[in-house]
Amino acid sequence: KILLASICVGLVAVRWTAPTFDAESLSGARVLVTGASTGIGEQIAYHYARFGARIVITARREKVLQQVAEKCMSLGAQEALYVAADMGNELDPDKVVDFALEKLGGLDYMVLNHIGPSPFSMWNGDVEHVRWLMKVNFFSYIQMAWKSLESLERSKGSLVIVSSLLGKMTSPFVAPYTSTKSALNGFFGSLHHELSMKKSNVSITLCTLGLIDTEAAMEKVREITSVPAYPASEAALNIVTAGAMRQAEVFYPWTTYVVTISKDWFPSLTDYIIQNTYKYNP
Ligand code: NDP
Repeated sequence: KILLASICVGLVAVRWTAPTFDAESLSGARVLVTGASTGIGEQIAYHYARFGARIVITARREKVLQQVAEKCMSLGAQEALYVAADMGNELDPDKVVDFALEKLGGLDYMVLNHIGPSPFSMWNGDVEHVRWLMKVNFFSYIQMAWKSLESLERSKGSLVIVSSLLGKMTSPFVAPYTSTKSALNGFFGSLHHELSMKKSNVSITLCTLGLIDTEAAMEKVREITSVPAYPASEAALNIVTAGAMRQAEVFYPWTTYVVTISKDWFPSLTDYIIQNTYKYNP
């Protein structure tokens, strides 16, 4: 009985002390979203738009960005600008942050979400591809984070890093991709400590996502896995609200949290399950 009572008290305390999402806080917020031409990034831009934010979006395809920016305006964004950039090009990450700082007069949120395309297949020894993917999925993130830090410090802003369950655990067919996500988790986990120890104003939110139903993800796994895919719009909303509440981590769907714990408790069972979620005939 004492144990049960303690658990109840604990749950009530967590509920009372947990931050709540204030939609108003995003009205007029100055936001930069990367990888916003499609998929989760596009949905993130639309949610910020509905909350009345001022948005800069980026990706490589200018024409698509223009359409997303127009839709953002129709959904309620106070401002929606776009800048085309290739994160595999060393100058572009800085160019994008400079553009956002100049056009918006500073930043309150920077959501780093883009990824370069990578094959879903057995590792074939293509080291050059991993090197390039690291540039796009990792080095551009840390370059942009550094470039925006001063402005985020002034605005008591937030850095939101879109990562993956595959940054916390390994899986077949995605060695290059999972390397970049693990690198992100390591780097921004460390930066989170340092900012906190420096009593910085900047919060970091690390987002751990499971399989999400974007076209890019589904075209790779649709035929070969039974893992359920979750809606991109809901994933995006979780990312936006977690950033606004300055949460250190968010897991979507919540089962990804259970998986990150159970993989350490039951490693062999987890390996067995992972390897058997894919149809594979050698
Ligand atoms: P998509 O492939 O749908 O979108 C990727 C975005 O990045 C696009 O806007 C693309 O636009 C842009 N992009 C691609 N290459 C470059 C480049 N070289 N320079 C700049 N921008 C580029 O990805 P998702 O929406 O599926 O994923 C979004 C995030 O969510 C990623 O960080 C991913 O790791 C994470 N995630 C996704 C999961 C899923 O199942 N979908 C699961 C777990 C995590 P363009 O082609 O115009 O450049």
